[in-house]
Amino acid sequence: MTHKAPPSPCRIGIDLGGSKIAGVALGAAGVVLAARRMAAPQHDYAATVRAIAAMVGALEQSAGQPGSVGIGMPGSIAPGGGGVQNANSTWLNGKPFADDLQRSLAKPVRLANDANCFALSEAVDGAGAGAHSLFGVILGTGCGGGLVFEGKLIDGPRGTGGEWGHNPLPWAEASEHPGPPCWCGRRGCLEKWVSGPALESDHLAQTGVALPAPAIAANAAAGDAEARASLARHASRLARGLAHVVNIFDPDLVVLGGGLSQLDHLYRQLPPLMAPYILARDTRVIVKPPRWGDASGVRGAAWLWP
Ligand SMILES: [Zn+2]
Repeated sequence: MTHKAPPSPCRIGIDLGGSKIAGVALGAAGVVLAARRMAAPQHDYAATVRAIAAMVGALEQSAGQPGSVGIGMPGSIAPGGGGVQNANSTWLNGKPFADDLQRSLAKPVRLANDANCFALSEAVDGAGAGAHSLFGVILGTGCGGGLVFEGKLIDGPRGTGGEWGHNPLPWAEASEHPGPPCWCGRRGCLEKWVSGPALESDHLAQTGVALPAPAIAANAAAGDAEARASLARHASRLARGLAHVVNIFDPDLVVLGGGLSQLDHLYRQLPPLMAPYILARDTRVIVKPPRWGDASGVRGAAWLWP
């Protein structure tokens, strides 16, 4: 009788973004067996489903084995058989995305919000590996969040666990009322204060100069006082937003992702800026950069299956 080792588990993760689709096949211990990338079909739901199915097939072929399939997406699936909700790739909204993907792939598929996938990836084997609890935040064109507790995503009956970008800026100053209008129909949402475009539009409003976020950071590093002031306002707002979540969830650490997570000053400045707003006697909060960066989207999607 021969004893064969069991086939190594293969987990496929797909990250559906606004402009691109990325995919990865992870083997045992998270080793990358195959990776793919393509432009995302625009304004075409059926083509989006077909593109994801084709990418899964290609990844399985490259990996030499079938895999479980997890997908990170903008917005989320409304529980109870609802379609997609809150996706900024608006052609997905209301569509039975999970059903259509499962039919197309002929296997079960798990879907989660892209910020939740980021948080899960960093909790499994990233910046928060071994931590009891983690709040993962994406600061990119928008502002998403995901909560992980004991290795599992917290996503409640509405499918919006960890979403904080459309809560208001807490402890707002008079000059911050009522805040900029948001696409969600409210004013003063955190997303309109702490995302990349928010930093840029605040800098423009205060200085009359339109600059992308990396240029604002570069100017600040070169000693430009106005750029420094813009970063300081942004860090203060982000600190207040994070402190609000820490007081509710009390995570072991906060991990930042998205384009603005590359701003080094945030890791030095956020903990002391948060401290005055932390309810606990111990006001120290650990804020870390991501281990996996952009790859956290695909890795977290793959980790949606145990
Ligand atoms: Zn909003």
